[in-house]
Amino acid sequence: MTGEPSMRTACVIALTFLVLAASVRAGPVVTLSVSPAVISQGGAVVVTVTGDLPDGTLQVRFAGRTWPLYRDSNRWRTYLGTDPNTAAGSRAIVVEIVDHDSIQILARRIITVRRVAFPRRTLIFDPETLALLTPEKVAEEQAKVAAGLRVLEPAQLWSASFRMPVAGTITSPYGVISIYQGASHGWHHGIDIAAPEGEIVRAANGGIVRLAEPLPLSGDTVILDHGMGILTFYMHMSALDVTAGERVHTGDIVGRVGSTGLATGPHLHWGVRVNGVYVDPLLWAH
Ligand SMILES: [Zn+2]
Repeated sequence: MTGEPSMRTACVIALTFLVLAASVRAGPVVTLSVSPAVISQGGAVVVTVTGDLPDGTLQVRFAGRTWPLYRDSNRWRTYLGTDPNTAAGSRAIVVEIVDHDSIQILARRIITVRRVAFPRRTLIFDPETLALLTPEKVAEEQAKVAAGLRVLEPAQLWSASFRMPVAGTITSPYGVISIYQGASHGWHHGIDIAAPEGEIVRAANGGIVRLAEPLPLSGDTVILDHGMGILTFYMHMSALDVTAGERVHTGDIVGRVGSTGLATGPHLHWGVRVNGVYVDPLLWAH
């Protein structure tokens, strides 16, 4: 009987230690939701994180890179895009917090990315048009786009679903491999909608005009920033009806259909970019 009190003390200490160990191991209570769980290459998933988050920078790891998360009232949200280069199969989405040198994993989900057999197309440009395709012109275009997209809006500016910017026949879908001059020139970063020269092109959703100027290869171009890393691109137009910095709403006129830049005829190239990845626009608008 004499040993009982010390035994009890030992038990209390052990229990306290267990509770402490359990709370350390459990870490912060974080809820991660990912939707949908299965996508095809060119699709996107929305990631939402709620809970008591520790100090540090919240980020998502997916497909070999990190993605920003955006504050959205009492939760964090982001969109992860995939393209023909995203490896198909089971892919992990990992939410982690970075605080100085330490990275703590808060939650993890597995999604399935399905492979898509993207078709090929052969394009024939007249020599004058093809002469545009020089390393200097490519670099000039990339620099202009990068300058326009230096600052992006973190808050969501779009509402409801996106609308098609112009009515017409889709002459080239997303992801098609372009062949010209006997070589592959990469996959199509958007869709081509054939429409008469001068046809009105409308904003697919609300946003801020980040670029509205002629580009060497993409011709008269408008880029809209819809917030949270979502951008839409309108290219090869014959006229621009907006200026950089302007706020637009769904359906506002941004330009006119044309065939400026590296184009074989009047059409609108429409692209949707999700945090740096060009996705299939038809999954955003119908
Ligand atoms: Zn195109």
